[in-house]
Amino acid sequence: MSKTEAVKPAHFIRQIITKDLEAGKNDGRVATRFPPEPNGYLHIGHAKSICLNFSMAEEFGGTCNLRFDDTNPEKENQEYIEAIKSDVTWLGFQWHDEVRYASDYFADLYQFAVDLIRQGKAYVDESTPEQIRALRGTLTEPGQASAYRDRSVEENLQQFERMRNGEIADGAAVLRARIDLASPNINMRDPVIYRVRRAHHHQTGDHWCIYPMYDYTHCLSDALEGITHSLCTLEFEDHRPLYDWVLDQLDVPCHPQQIEFARLNLNYTVTSKRKLKQLVDEGHVDGWDDPRMPTIAGLRRRGYTPASIRNFCEMIGVTKSEGVVDMSMLEFAIRDDLDKHAPRAMCVLQPLKVTIENWAEGQEQALSVPAHPKDETLGAREIFFTRELYIDRSDFEETPPKGFKRLIPGGEVRLRGAYVIRCDEVIKDDRGQVVELRCSYDPDTLGRNPEGRKVKGVVHWVSASRSMAAEVRLYDRLFNHESPDSARDGSSFLDHINPDSLQVIAQAYAEPSLAQAQAGSPYQFEREGYFVRDSGASEKLVFNRTVTLRDTWAKVSNK
Ligand code: ATP
Ligand code: MG
Repeated sequence: MSKTEAVKPAHFIRQIITKDLEAGKNDGRVATRFPPEPNGYLHIGHAKSICLNFSMAEEFGGTCNLRFDDTNPEKENQEYIEAIKSDVTWLGFQWHDEVRYASDYFADLYQFAVDLIRQGKAYVDESTPEQIRALRGTLTEPGQASAYRDRSVEENLQQFERMRNGEIADGAAVLRARIDLASPNINMRDPVIYRVRRAHHHQTGDHWCIYPMYDYTHCLSDALEGITHSLCTLEFEDHRPLYDWVLDQLDVPCHPQQIEFARLNLNYTVTSKRKLKQLVDEGHVDGWDDPRMPTIAGLRRRGYTPASIRNFCEMIGVTKSEGVVDMSMLEFAIRDDLDKHAPRAMCVLQPLKVTIENWAEGQEQALSVPAHPKDETLGAREIFFTRELYIDRSDFEETPPKGFKRLIPGGEVRLRGAYVIRCDEVIKDDRGQVVELRCSYDPDTLGRNPEGRKVKGVVHWVSASRSMAAEVRLYDRLFNHESPDSARDGSSFLDHINPDSLQVIAQAYAEPSLAQAQAGSPYQFEREGYFVRDSGASEKLVFNRTVTLRDTWAKVSNK
C-alpha cells in the first residue's frame, strides 16, 4: 500500500459506464448526482459517495449535480444545507449549474401523482397507519387490500386534491401507489408516495401540506435532471423495482439506471447521521466539527486534507460487498499526504527547562533550518539558540532503560538543527521532581559531528525566550470499541465512547515560525506528529493533533 496515486482500478461502476458509452447509451452522456438529505453534516461515508459521483462525471466528461433530497422538512434545515455545500467544495468538487432541491420539483411530482391516479395506479388510503402496517403482510404472507384500494379514479382525484388543499388532517390519509400486494418485495406492496404533514419547509415555506416520500421523489428527480447513472448504496437494492416502476408508468424525459455499491463502514467509529447528531445534541462532543467526529467538518478541523480523503476513497475502492475498513487506512492516507507536504516545526509538549551554562545570558544565535527535509521549495525557518531552552521531559532519563539514546546525566545529545549538549547537573525540587538540567554546549558541533565520539540521539527543543506558549490538543479515537454500533452485548454506541479521546496540554512551547500558522495549514511537529492550528474562536495559539507519526494503534490492538 505504498502508492496512493496508483493506476485507477477498473471498479464495476467504471466498467458499466464505459460499456454504456461504447454502446452509445444516453447519447454518450454521463450525468450523476450526489443527493444528500440536509438533516445533518456529511461524514466520511458520504465522502465515498461524493468522490464516486463527481469523479465518474469528471472522468467521462459528464456532469454531477448536487441535489438536496429534502422531503422531510421537520428534520432538515438551512444550516445543514450550507455545511454540506461547503464540505463538497472543500473536498475539491464543483457541482453542475445551480444547487438543486427535490423540492424544486414538488409541483411536477404532484402532477405525476395525478397522472398515476388517472391511470388507476394510485389511490388515497384513509386507513390508519396501524391498519396499513397490519395489512401489509410479512415476508412469508402476502399483503391484503384496504377498504380504499378500489375507489374510483374520480374519488381519488378529489381526495388527493383535498389532501393538498389542507382539508385533511395530518396522518388521516396517504396516497399509495397501486402495484402488487402479493409481491415478495415489500417495497412493492402499494407503497405510500404522499403523506399529509403541516410542516414549514426550508425551501417551499408553507406552500405545501403534503410531502412526497423519498422513493417516489428520488427516481423522478433523477429523471427530471436527466441523470444517466443513479449511484446509491446497497440498502436501496430492494427499492430498485419501485424506482423503475414509477418511471415506467410516467411520461418522463429519461430512465436513469440505478446502480448500488457497498457503503463505507469504518471501524472505531459510527457513520450514521442520526447517531452523530445524538453525539452533538447530548454534548458528548463539541459540535459537528469536533475534531474527533468522522464528519467532513470534523476531519477538516482535525487537519485532514481534501487530497488525503480523496486518496482514501480511491484506495478503498468501490464494490458490491459490505466490509469494514480499518481506521488505519484513513490515517495512512493523511500521513502519506502530510509527510510530503507539511512543513516541519518544533514544539515541546512537556517542557523541561535546560540552561546552557557556557552560553552568555542575553546572547542569541539565529539558525536557519529547512522547513522540509526533502522539499526545498518549502524554504527555511529561523530558530534561535539561547541560554535557556526547553526539551521534552521524555527525552531525559536519570536512570535510563537499556537502549535509551537521549539525554542522561553526564551524557550527550544533539539538539535538532543546533549543537550537541552535555548534561552536567540535574536540579530537583523538594519532592524529588526533576525541574531543570544544567548543561554545556560544544561549539564545534554545529552542522558537524563531534570530535572523537559518537552522539546518537537527536531531540527537538525550543528556546525559552524565543518560543510561544501554545495549547495542544491530542485526539484519539472517539470510540474504544471496534464496532461501537453493533457490539453483540446489547450495549449502545454511547457506552463505548473512549474517555481519553481528548487530552489537552495547556502549556506547550512552539518555535517562532508557528506564530504565522494559519488555521487549516498542517505542520509536522518533529518527533511528535502532524498538527494543525485550530480553526475555533480562540485568540490563543491552539493546535490539534491530526495523527501521530506512526501507527500506534496497530500495536495496541494486536496485543
Ligand atoms: P446516514 O445513514 O448517515 O443518515 P444517509 O444515507 O441517510 O446516511 P443521505 O444524505 O441520504 O444520508 O446520503 C446521501 C448519499 O450518500 C446517498 O446516496 C447515500 O447512499 C450516500 N451514503 C450515505 N452514507 C454512506 C456511506 N457510509 N458510504 C457510502 N455512501 C454513503
Ligand atoms: Mg438517506
